[in-house]
Amino acid sequence: MQSRWSDAEAAAAAEEAQRRNLPPLLGHRIYTSRLIGQDPDLVLHGGGNTSVKIGAPGTGGVIHVKGSGWDLADIDAPGLPALHLDALLEARDIPSMSDEAMVAFLRANLLDPGAPNPSVETLLHAFLPHAFVDHCHATSILALADQDGMEAEVARLSGGRLAFVPYVMPGYDLSHAGLRAYLANPAAEGLWLEKHGLFTFGATARESYERLIRHVTLAEEELARRGGAPGGPQPSDRAAPEPLAAVLHAALAARGALGSDPRLDFRSTPALRRLLSRDDCAELVGRGTATPDHVIRIKPFPLILSAGAGRAEADAALDRYAAAYRAYFDRHAPRAAEPKTMLDPLPRAVLAPGEGIFGLGRTEKEARIVGDLWEQTARIVLAAETWGRYAPIPEADLFDMEYWSLEQAKLAR
Ligand SMILES: [Zn+2]
Repeated sequence: MQSRWSDAEAAAAAEEAQRRNLPPLLGHRIYTSRLIGQDPDLVLHGGGNTSVKIGAPGTGGVIHVKGSGWDLADIDAPGLPALHLDALLEARDIPSMSDEAMVAFLRANLLDPGAPNPSVETLLHAFLPHAFVDHCHATSILALADQDGMEAEVARLSGGRLAFVPYVMPGYDLSHAGLRAYLANPAAEGLWLEKHGLFTFGATARESYERLIRHVTLAEEELARRGGAPGGPQPSDRAAPEPLAAVLHAALAARGALGSDPRLDFRSTPALRRLLSRDDCAELVGRGTATPDHVIRIKPFPLILSAGAGRAEADAALDRYAAAYRAYFDRHAPRAAEPKTMLDPLPRAVLAPGEGIFGLGRTEKEARIVGDLWEQTARIVLAAETWGRYAPIPEADLFDMEYWSLEQAKLAR
């Protein structure tokens, strides 16, 4: 992957910030956040987050962190709310905090009380001492992050420059685990988050961004060495199979949970067709989502439905899916500290072997997001299986993420 850094564009971003009475460093932060957000092989649909610290700790400095509801691709100053850095650093001495307490703590330290909620990874950004911190879910990183037992491999691949963080739920626990991993390897230029993604950091916007690009490139090269480079995003090159699209629309509309006119986004790319044609496809796609965030959009597993299915077969498949989803909920809900309410038991992706996949949603946008995430997922799974074995977070962790109170709140917005 090539760095898209341009001195001229960075200078223009800093000037533009000054013209708006904003710190030039915030201009740089907006600039490289967009560079990251505009590459679908780095982050998709609101994934990833970035930050910049302005002013040193102990001097009343602030940290600007991506706000929830913003997408890095077109982020602007209001999407990077400022928080009091010194106050956030006090949380280093607080070993645990509930999700709700953390959100309240973050909100209490916003400079502008009307700003959006800062990212749930705000404390990790704050704890890392570097001025610039970037976080992505790159395709090639995930193909390797979704493997078991990677600690020694990551040390080898990165030349010891990435600190390894065993999987832990995003949020408060990850902020402490990330800090511990960094302190154990203070020469690191980034964090490898097992089964989740990559953090990099640096003194300047360029340094942090180019470290991100370098580690993504190292991952690409490693995958290519074993013949499994994921390649770039692929355009869909086939039309939706009829009458399956009409059958599915009618069967879903009758169930109501996706509205009376559910949207279907059909995709068929070479990678999707390769995945769907594998003998072990059903088992592979049932292992889980490529990064924890995705479960919110695409549910923990898809529905597989033959391309020739009629209405009765589609109804039976949706019933089976609902039963499997309910069983998944019942397996894990009893572990939760507070009672959970089951979400609708309809799939968000329907895989039609030989054809492609349908992303499903209440709106065009929801359906398109599912399509985009599955297009990337297919390339991740194929690359992961060529290199080793695709092993994303286990079902219990997927459930904790899907039913995380903070994610539920995000959906409600
Ligand atoms: Zn993430």
